[in-house]
Amino acid sequence: DKGLEKTKSNLFGKITKAVAGKSTVDDEVLDELESILISSDVGLDTTVKIIDRIEQRVRRDKYVTTKELNELLRDEIVQLLAEHNTVDLEDYTLPSAAKPCIILVVGVNGVGKTTTIGKLAHQYKSQGKKVVLGAGDTFRAAAVDQLKIWSERVGCDFYSKGMQADPAAVAFETVQYAIQHNCDVAIIDTAGRLHTKINLMNELSKIRRSVSKSLDGAPHEVLLVLDATTGQNAFEQAKHFTDATDVSALALTKLDGTAKGGVAIGISDQFKVPIKYIGVGEGITQLQIFNKRAFVESLFE
Ligand code: GDP
Repeated sequence: DKGLEKTKSNLFGKITKAVAGKSTVDDEVLDELESILISSDVGLDTTVKIIDRIEQRVRRDKYVTTKELNELLRDEIVQLLAEHNTVDLEDYTLPSAAKPCIILVVGVNGVGKTTTIGKLAHQYKSQGKKVVLGAGDTFRAAAVDQLKIWSERVGCDFYSKGMQADPAAVAFETVQYAIQHNCDVAIIDTAGRLHTKINLMNELSKIRRSVSKSLDGAPHEVLLVLDATTGQNAFEQAKHFTDATDVSALALTKLDGTAKGGVAIGISDQFKVPIKYIGVGEGITQLQIFNKRAFVESLFE
């Protein structure tokens, strides 16, 4: 997979280098492996977990060759990912059979929120679904405009009350629009302001409340968008947002632009939320469904 080339060459390349000239996995190799995982943004807690598991295997089997290490590591990572990524989607299935299905998209500015909404809308549209995008990020002038441009590119409906409008009101009315216009899905953008944690929490819960007031059982999905190139910042944001609201799925963007795909492993493990999509480019079709096995294979092939 071209989009993941960088991730691939890096993790695998580094490990191969680290074990060159060694035949068995010893403490030195494990130390090397630990720093490779940390420098690949797997995160400290998850790295320690992986190293512990491999150490146990090494202790049990006494003699583990460096050749077996890759296999072992691959198994451990797949297992870790499997704990929270219990379903591998086969296509862009809506998160609920409800009609309209309401998806709230959260995340800080610049992570690729608007782009991900556009790409997702394109997929649903291609399935013949009727889609509306709701411009709930009313704090940035560009946000409303950009979402509108995406709706035109996709050829789907767009609902906005302009800039400065109350985001909760936009969310409420987008849902009403979806009901009245017989839409299959409404994807609602939100402002990702992280001034203070309390602020974020209040804003998100207000939007959530107004969405469920507009339609019982909604939102059906809260999708958090994170930029994979930001490493530790992505972890911080995941913490803020999962603390502030019930995040049901993750989209990890810009995996084409980073050698550090490890962020996917750590974030899914630490925040116990499945990764649903990965962004591998700026184009409208460059959103992929996250497949844990394919992802891990791409790290090692
Ligand atoms: P927002 O502020 O979170 O809405 O971010 P945007 O959707 O405007 O995206 C910010 C920048 O990241 C834009 O230049 C996008 O084209 C770019 N971008 C978004 N997703 C991806 C991706 O998966 N790969 C790459 N290479 N760029 C992306």
